[in-house]
Amino acid sequence: MQKSVAIVGGGVSGLTCGVVFAERGFSVKIFAEQIGTHTTSGAAGALWFPYDAEPAEKVIPWALATYKVLVELANNPRSGVSMIELRQYCRSGKIEIPDWASVISSEVERSLDISGSIFSSGFSIRVPLTDTTVYLDYLADRFQKAGGKINGNIRFENLDDVKGDLVINCAGIGARELAHDVDLEPHRGQVVLVPKMENLECAIVCDDDPLMYVIPRASDCLFGGTNEVSDNLNPDPATTKAIVSECACVLKIDNPRVVRERVGLRPFRKSGVRLEKEKLSDGRTVIHNYGHGGSGFTLSWGCAENAFDLAS
Ligand SMILES: Cc1cc2nc3c(=O)[nH]c(=O)nc-3n(C[C@H](O)[C@H](O)[C@H](O)COP(=O)(O)OP(=O)(O)OC[C@H]3O[C@@H](n4cnc5c(N)ncnc54)[C@H](O)[C@@H]3O)c2cc1C
Repeated sequence: MQKSVAIVGGGVSGLTCGVVFAERGFSVKIFAEQIGTHTTSGAAGALWFPYDAEPAEKVIPWALATYKVLVELANNPRSGVSMIELRQYCRSGKIEIPDWASVISSEVERSLDISGSIFSSGFSIRVPLTDTTVYLDYLADRFQKAGGKINGNIRFENLDDVKGDLVINCAGIGARELAHDVDLEPHRGQVVLVPKMENLECAIVCDDDPLMYVIPRASDCLFGGTNEVSDNLNPDPATTKAIVSECACVLKIDNPRVVRERVGLRPFRKSGVRLEKEKLSDGRTVIHNYGHGGSGFTLSWGCAENAFDLAS
């Protein structure tokens, strides 16, 4: 009989692992407290861009593997994935173009016009954007079509309690308690959703302090952001105000109306993304796949494939 696989976590990591295992014939169930758009994954800007995750020697290969899959998915309008021009800026000095940029695109524009802007230098590159309002449902749907089952509103205190021949732990920041991992640090991010901007066709990011990004999506526009060590899931009104004015200033527009504020905890792991096997107390295997920090979407397919290799 085929082995049963139980995945803890219904964010991008759990759903992507679910698709990879279910489409290869495994009997897979996802168990999670929250599913899809209700998770940290649902709060993300979800651009493909390696950020706030370690270690680079593993993160970049996982990111490049994911890039290939997302580029393919961008051909399917129902996936919520599209290719977008990302303009990356800094506020002082000359921006450094990462080495991986030349691997993924020959279309890197090495020097952006910054005249009249608050920036000192920038580059642009085409990258996948996953619109979380569509993509997480797409993954859940694809998983279920491959025979997978999703069980929400379930919270585990212990991985030994998860039923399945093989357990995959995709609990994000929840792995701090579930896997007793003191290395996990919540990198809190607050974002603000504003109405769709018809004329905006590129994403704009500056990760100097204050971190700012503007991401146009199918039916709204996402303004960010923050990155601080904190567990507070409540949006802070002063932060919302600051985010909106900084983004509006960059776009040279009046402050737009706030549609929604969201907060998520990036699961940053000081010793690096945890993708490895361990034995549960009854001898079953658990594969840990968490700690993707600010790159959960960027690493999702590379890590899910790696988890599959570990299982086989
Ligand atoms: C503001 C913001 C912007 C971001 N922008 C980007 C970006 O542009 N690009 C990018 O690649 N990444 C980005 N990220 C990072 C990305 O969102 C995360 O890395 C990713 O969501 C992590 O996904 P995950 O599935 O591992 O965890 P999560 O999405 O947190 O999912 C964890 C799952 O585990 C479940 N769970 C946890 N504990 C338990 C338990 N004890 N019992 C049962 N279930 C449990 C939860 O309910 C949930 O279903 C951003 C994050 C934030 C906050």
